[in-house]
Amino acid sequence: MKYTKVTHKEIEFIQSLVGSERVSAGESVLELHSKDESFHQRRKPDVVVWPLRTEEISQILKMANEKRIPVTPWGAGTSLEGNPIPSEGGIVLNLQQMNRILELRTEDLQVRVEAGVIYKELNQSLSRFGLFFPPDPGAAATLGGMVGNNASGVRTVKYGATKDYVLSMVIILPSGEVIRAGTNAIKSSSGYDLCRLFVGSEGTLGVASEVTLRLIGLPAEFMAAVVQFSRIRDATDTVVQIMRSGLYPAALEFLDGPTVRVVNQFKKLSLVERPTLFIEFHGASAAGLKEELKIVKGICDEHQSLQFDSGIGREERNRLWEARYGVRESIKANNPGFHPLVIDTAVPISKYSDMVEWGQKTIEKKGLRGYAFGHAGSGNLHMEIMGIPEEKAQWQKVRGAEEEIVYFALECGGTATGEHGVGIGKKKFMEKEHGESLFLMKQIKKLLDPNGIMNPGKIFE
Ligand SMILES: Cc1cc2nc3c(=O)[nH]c(=O)nc-3n(C[C@H](O)[C@H](O)[C@H](O)COP(=O)(O)OP(=O)(O)OC[C@H]3O[C@@H](n4cnc5c(N)ncnc54)[C@H](O)[C@@H]3O)c2cc1C
Repeated sequence: MKYTKVTHKEIEFIQSLVGSERVSAGESVLELHSKDESFHQRRKPDVVVWPLRTEEISQILKMANEKRIPVTPWGAGTSLEGNPIPSEGGIVLNLQQMNRILELRTEDLQVRVEAGVIYKELNQSLSRFGLFFPPDPGAAATLGGMVGNNASGVRTVKYGATKDYVLSMVIILPSGEVIRAGTNAIKSSSGYDLCRLFVGSEGTLGVASEVTLRLIGLPAEFMAAVVQFSRIRDATDTVVQIMRSGLYPAALEFLDGPTVRVVNQFKKLSLVERPTLFIEFHGASAAGLKEELKIVKGICDEHQSLQFDSGIGREERNRLWEARYGVRESIKANNPGFHPLVIDTAVPISKYSDMVEWGQKTIEKKGLRGYAFGHAGSGNLHMEIMGIPEEKAQWQKVRGAEEEIVYFALECGGTATGEHGVGIGKKKFMEKEHGESLFLMKQIKKLLDPNGIMNPGKIFE
C-alpha cells in the first residue's frame, strides 16, 4: 500500500475539529507513541490526536481515508506484540481522554463506557455497587485496548476473556461511518456477531468509541493457596487434575523456579524457589470454600507437593498472592540490558504439561535464559526468553526457540497467542495457525478497509 504523509493542511483540519490543544506533533509526544512494551521496531506517527467525541473520530477517519493516511487507535500502549505501533506513521488516535462512564445499569448488571476508561478504575467505581468486570490483564490498560486485543488474564479460567463481556459497541469504520454492533440482551441469535468480529481486531477494522459491558456480582468469599513442587511436571499435572475434577478455580497460575527466584529478589520475599502454583477460589461462603480447599490439597498431595500454604478471606488471599503480581517487572529488573521475547501460547488443557516441558527443553537445548509462567488453568503459557535484539546471532537463537515453541503449540491444536494479540510479533504464525480461513480474514479486512488505512502492518504479513 502507498500511504500519504500528514501535512500542515491535515493538521489544521484536525485542529479545526478538535481544538489545537488536543493535537500534537511535538517530538516527545511522537516518541511516546512510537513504541509499546515490546522490543518491536519503533516508528513515530506524524501526529497524535486526543479526540473527545465519536463525531470527531468519524471526521478524521473520513479525511484520512480519502487521503490514504494511516490511522492507529491507541489505548495505553501496554501491548506486548507491537500492536499499537504506528508502523507506517500517519495519525495516532489516542482515546485516553474519552474516559467517562456513560451509564451504569446496576439492575441489568451492565455499564456503558467510553473506550479510554482504564479497567482498574472502572472496577474501583463498580465495587461500591458490588459489581465487577472480571478480565484482568494486569497493566493499566484501557477498555478500548482490551477490546482491541481481546485481553484476558488470571481470572479467565473461571470468568472468560473480554469478548465474553462485550454486549455492544459504537464503532467508527474507516470510511467515517458510525455503526452500533450488538444489543443490551445478554443472549442473541440475531445475525452475524459483529461485536465478536471487532473484539480482537487490534484496531485494523475501525475504532471503538463506546463499549457496553456485561458485569457480574463481586464474590462474597475468597480462598487462596500457594503450593510448591519439586518438579515442573508435578505442578502442571496438578493443574490438569484440578481442572478435570469438577472444581471451578477463579485463578490457577503457574510460575517456574527461576521466575519465583526473580520475584523473591525484586519484591524481597522468601518463597521456596521451586515450581509453584497460585490458586484462588471464589464462593458464597467460607464453609463451602473449606470443602473445596480439602479437595485441592488432596490433589496437590497426590502430586508430591512440597509445601501447601492456604487461607480463607480477602486478606489471606492478598497475602498469598503477593508474589504473583509484578512478574514481568521482576524479570526486567533482574536482566538489565536484555529484552524478553514473549511467548503466549495456549493449548488444550490435556497438553499443558507437554507444552511447558517442550518450552523448557527448547531453551535449555539452545543455551538460552528463560522464565516460564502463565495462566495455567486456561492452558496459557508465557515464557520470557531473554536476549539482545542488536546481537544478531544470539537473537536468531531466541527467535528460533520461539518458532519451535509456537509450532509445538499449533501441533497440539493450540494458538500462537492466547491473549496478547498478533500485532507485529506473531504475524508469521498466522498462516500455519489458520490455514484457509486466513484468506477469509484478509477478505473481511479488505471489505471494511479497502484502502488499508487502519493500523497497517498488523495481524497480516
Ligand atoms: C506488565 C504487563 C502485563 C500484562 N499482562 C497481560 C495479561 O495478563 N493479559 C493480557 O491479555 N494482556 C496483558 N498485557 C498486555 C496489555 O496490557 C493488554 O493487551 C491490554 O489490553 C492493552 O491495552 P492498552 O489500553 O494498553 O491498549 P494498546 O496497547 O494501546 O492497544 C492495543 C490494541 O488495540 C487497539 N486499540 C486501542 N484502542 C482501541 C479502540 N478504541 N478501538 C479499536 N482499537 C483500539 C490498538 O490499535 C492496538 O492494536 C500485559 C502488559 C504488561 C505491560
